[in-house]
Amino acid sequence: MASSKDYYETLGVNKNASQAEIKSAFRKLAKQYHPDICKEENAEAKFKEVQEAYAVLSDENKRKQYDQFGHDAFQQAAGGAGGYGGFNAQDFDFSDIFDSIFGNSFGFGSSGGSKSRQTRGSDKLIHINLDFEEAVFGCEKQIKVNVSEKCDECKGEGGFDSETCSTCHGSGTVTQQQRSLFGSFMTRTTCPDCNGEGKTYKKKCNHCHGRGTINKDKTLNVTIPAGVDTGNRLRLSGKGEAGINGGPNGDLYLEFTVKPHEFFQRDDDDIYLKVPITVAEAALGCKKTIPTIYGNIKLTIPSGTNTGDKHRIKEKGIKNATTRNKGDMYVVIDVKFPEKLTYEQKKLFEKLEKTDLEDKEINKFNKFVKNN
Ligand SMILES: [Zn+2]
Ligand SMILES: [Zn+2]
Repeated sequence: MASSKDYYETLGVNKNASQAEIKSAFRKLAKQYHPDICKEENAEAKFKEVQEAYAVLSDENKRKQYDQFGHDAFQQAAGGAGGYGGFNAQDFDFSDIFDSIFGNSFGFGSSGGSKSRQTRGSDKLIHINLDFEEAVFGCEKQIKVNVSEKCDECKGEGGFDSETCSTCHGSGTVTQQQRSLFGSFMTRTTCPDCNGEGKTYKKKCNHCHGRGTINKDKTLNVTIPAGVDTGNRLRLSGKGEAGINGGPNGDLYLEFTVKPHEFFQRDDDDIYLKVPITVAEAALGCKKTIPTIYGNIKLTIPSGTNTGDKHRIKEKGIKNATTRNKGDMYVVIDVKFPEKLTYEQKKLFEKLEKTDLEDKEINKFNKFVKNN
């Protein structure tokens, strides 16, 4: 269902949020509610709400219109765009909403209804899930997409043997009188008989049922660049819906959601890796083999290491998709104490306890306890 919540609320940002804040809020929530990851019952619905909000707020034009016209106008338009039965960001055609709210039929920015209106095809947005490695190193993907194409039979005309539309006499628009609280006025709308084309056809094209375009399942081979992250979009120019009356095709946008890795945690271009070590390794120091996304390396962990100690390994992070700079990797130490001790281990710890294990911080704390 379409969300009733304000898009800013959905993303948890304020009305003046920058694009960077919106993007970062979206990334966080998209990861949190991704249906592959989140086990909450309504994760999918929430995921869609978040996508819907982001699709609008990340586009400055749409955001401006959203701010101006308000949430309800949007929701109405989403319902009125037809055939969706609720908002589905996956295949929702965003340009349609805006055409129906702000387009010619409402009298904004009228193009005057020329005889053969060349209309650019709609943009299409599809969501692509990527594994961590696919996003980090880039990949080739076969993408299945259903988009419209110009009908070959009628060359996109929708019919054969054209004649001037008798309803609008070729102008493509009709003028109607409308009554309102403020009196009656004239509005010009697209001609319903020829859909603004100014002509009708003696014979309708059966192949496309008069639409001039045909929906097709296509498989595209797409190169996903290295370094993309959740929320990034890739534009495939001209791969969207077919244009009408010889207009150019729309664009296809791929929006990525990156699945988390079991061990590597990503923070933009930096990678965090939690490395568990034993209490003996922490006390005595050790040499550890550490996995990086570029292969294993050796890391010396000094004696007296504590949980939370961080080691920065330069340029073992992710190569940024635009700047081509590499991020860093951070190794975060997690000292593991044995859950169960063997008899021998217990004896050793007891022996250890009799030695002076206290350090500066413990001494300071003990002093505080004593004087309290
Ligand atoms: Zn007409
Ligand atoms: Zn046709």
